[in-house]
Amino acid sequence: MEFPVKIHYERSASSAHRWMHCAGSVNAQRGLPAGDTTFADEGTRAHACAERILRGLSVSEFPDDMISHAHTYVDSVRELAQGHPIEVELELPISHLTGEEGATSTADAVVLRTDIKRINIHDLKYGYNEIVAKDNEQAILYALMVLDAYDPEGVIYGVETVGVYMHQPRVRYAPSEWILTRDELNAYRPEILSASMATLDPNAPRTPGAKQCKYCRAKPCAEAIAAVTSECADMFVNHEETPKDVAGRADIVSLAELVKKADFIRDVIKAAESRIYARLIDRQPVPGFKLKLGRKGDREWSPEAENKLISLGLKDVAYTSRLRTPADLEKIIGKKDQRWIEIKECIRQAPAKPILTVAEDTATEYVPEDVSLFTNLDHEELIG
Ligand code: SF4
Repeated sequence: MEFPVKIHYERSASSAHRWMHCAGSVNAQRGLPAGDTTFADEGTRAHACAERILRGLSVSEFPDDMISHAHTYVDSVRELAQGHPIEVELELPISHLTGEEGATSTADAVVLRTDIKRINIHDLKYGYNEIVAKDNEQAILYALMVLDAYDPEGVIYGVETVGVYMHQPRVRYAPSEWILTRDELNAYRPEILSASMATLDPNAPRTPGAKQCKYCRAKPCAEAIAAVTSECADMFVNHEETPKDVAGRADIVSLAELVKKADFIRDVIKAAESRIYARLIDRQPVPGFKLKLGRKGDREWSPEAENKLISLGLKDVAYTSRLRTPADLEKIIGKKDQRWIEIKECIRQAPAKPILTVAEDTATEYVPEDVSLFTNLDHEELIG
């Protein structure tokens, strides 16, 4: 199946998280290759699948798990639409917001809810990196885009708010929601336009940061490397110290600050490693590095093995019959099958373990049990 090729604008809504925070990134990544597009291609396919479901078309050529995730998204869009018409894959202008001539952006789904005086815009994200709608630059541009297209002055449909819903069916069932009033949205206009205009300066500064550098094709630029180097260097008092010494000596506030930047530091180092690797594969020297062969792949049978195993009398010992995992079986027989409903009772699952996240994460906070309540009890009380 062929998917439509979209024009990529330099100051697009989907890259606003970058150019709004690093004006120099537009010049820096101009002309650079897109790199590995595996995830982007998968996202394009998932969007096409969801679009077809919303339009009532067949999706038989898509993989089962993609269809299942697309249904999660579509169910949620329909539920939030409450019977109002759903506009699918709606291309609308954003050039008046960014100043980039002819620029448009495409909304995955838009619903005008005249009953609650709101326009809802739905965005499907197929990746695993959790994205929240609130304070999201793309969400702001999308919201302004639909507001201006549908009801710029609020006199056509009386629209008072815009709801942005970011759906990530692989991460969570419910979409992340952000509802903005007309005034809140209008307040962003000057900031967007001035950030966009700043990118036109040939000497626009490069401003490294986790958000903007994450998907920047110019990474690691000199400024990003310098930022990471100084972040790390600031932690060390002298060159004899090991990372463990630093972790043991530093106060918890400094360590928390460092860990907050860990993703950014890791990202820049990973990008640097890829560049070094590509250079060595191209037979160009890199001081202090060389290539070596890693582990061989896992052993597997060649196509003629089966016949040979039979001729050697090894057929019985060569095969195993294993129970499918709950996830596999659910996919095969379907969630609504009565047998699945009955067998579901036999599923065991280890409880979720606490994991570290930043305070801004919208996930519900997990508070560990106060173990001192138990450790202070007398031995007799525990066994009595
Ligand atoms: S890598 Fe970061 S600092 Fe460098 S141009 Fe890209 S966004 Fe800006």
